[in-house]
Order: sequence, then structure tokens, then C-alpha cells
Amino acid sequence: MASKEPNEAYDRTAGRVTLVGAGPGAVDLITLRGQRALAEADVVVYDDLANVALLEFCPAGIDRIYVGKRAGKHGAIQAEISAVLVSEAQRGRHVVRLKGGDPLIFGRGGEEERALAEAGIPFEIVPGVTAATAAGAMTGIPLTHRQHASAVVFVTGHECSGKPGDAVVDWRALARTRATLCIYMGVRRAGVIAAELRAGGLLGGTPVAVIANATLPNQSVQIGDLDSVDTLTAALEGRPALIIVGEVVRLAEIVEQAKTALAET
Ligand code: SAH
Repeated sequence: MASKEPNEAYDRTAGRVTLVGAGPGAVDLITLRGQRALAEADVVVYDDLANVALLEFCPAGIDRIYVGKRAGKHGAIQAEISAVLVSEAQRGRHVVRLKGGDPLIFGRGGEEERALAEAGIPFEIVPGVTAATAAGAMTGIPLTHRQHASAVVFVTGHECSGKPGDAVVDWRALARTRATLCIYMGVRRAGVIAAELRAGGLLGGTPVAVIANATLPNQSVQIGDLDSVDTLTAALEGRPALIIVGEVVRLAEIVEQAKTALAET
């Protein structure tokens, strides 16, 4: 007689996946719905950006599958992650895929939902607080403002391989929109991006904020301008950091002054 597989406890037709936005880092910035999904998980699949403390919301003893950068080469493993989600759900389990921030903002949630749809696995998506809105809240920078910014752009600073078909960001065109730019994954290319934005017409004195590890105890905030962006991003390699470009960044100074004034009274 074949040995009994642990997965025989599950109803194979009941497998499903919930893609949960973990929020930017602080444990209490996950949604109640995300927390509930974790509490109802049979297996959780997570990576580096999601705070591991969130795993405490899962039932004790469930399988935790780590698929972050330490597990392999970034980018090369997306197909494997999708395959794990599909195969775990096909065993009849409720799989929670925990992703930093919001699953559908630079989170490859699109690839995962496609793989699940193609495999006929039911899935649900729970939104999360994305890094841009978290960084705005932590610094008091309003991403939109009636006088200063009528639009906000979430854009990646990390251009993929440059292979044909890959989207390439037109920084000069973005500069002309005068929108607040929230640049994800931009630390390594910040100097090049700043040069392109200036070529597109933004002044070198356009204010810039760089917020690393927003909402976490090791959060850091640097404020300067396009001309000084290299100094602002120096030494941030390896930490998640968001770059905000636009006139609204000046309002962070107002908030800082208000805080200092309060502290002095
Ligand atoms: N899905 C995520 C983004 C993943 S891409 C979200 O919605 O936030 C990873 C990038 O997000 C990082 O390189 C960084 O630019 C940004 N990021 C994620 N967490 C962050 C944090 N706590 N502080 C600052 N930037 C963060």
C-alpha cells in the first residue's frame, strides 16, 4: 500500500490562491482582509519585501515557502514561483501568496494571476498599501496637491534587459507632465534618471526625496534636488527605497518645521 501523503487531507477541487498585499513593511499596515487570508492559509509563499513577522498571523505549523532573492536569481524564478502556486493549489490547499506593498504594483502579480487563470485555479487579490503612498504618509509629502501637482506617476527606475518588446520609460516625456514622480527600484540608476528629467525640462533644483525602508524602524529620509540625487541615494544599495520627484516634496519641509516647532514648545 502506498504511504499516505499528507496532502490527502485536502480536497483537491477546493484549492485556491489569495494574492495578498503585505503593505510596505510595518506589520500593522496589512489590511484586515489580508490578515484574515493569512489566518486561513494552508501554505504561505513569501519573499523578501513582505515583513516575516506577518507570518505569525498564519496557523502554526503550516508550510512556509520562501521564494525571495536569496532563493535564486531575481527574475529567473518568476515561472517557478507561479508553478509553486499552481501545484500547491492543485493539492487542494488554500495558498496565500504574500507580496510586499500592493500585489499589482511592480509586484509581478500580473504574471501570477495569468498562470493561475491558465491553470484554472480560482484566485482572489487583496490590495496592499504601496510604497509610494506609504512614503508620502511617512514624510507628509502629498503626492497630489491642488496647487502643485494634478497627477502622480508610479514608474520603475529599473529598466529590464532592453530586449525588444520591453517597455522603456520616456523620462523626458514624464518631465513635461509636471506630475509627481514616484520612482520604484530607482536607486541604482538615479543619476541617469535625473539627467534625463533635466533634459526633459525639469530644473536641477526640482526637489527630490528619497525614502528608504518606509514605515520600518530603520526608515531613512533624504531630501535634496535633482542635482544632488547621487548624494541622496549613496549608500542605499540593497535597501528598498522610493524616490519622489516634484514640487510637492517642498511640503515635507513644512511638516518638518511644524514638528520641530511642536517639539520646542
Ligand atoms: N509591490 C511593491 C513594490 C515592489 S518593487 C509595492 O507596491 O510597494 C520593489 C520596490 O518598491 C523597491 O525597490 C522600492 O523602490 C519600493 N519599496 C518597497 N517597499 C518599500 C519601503 N518600505 N520603503 C521604500 N521603498 C519601498
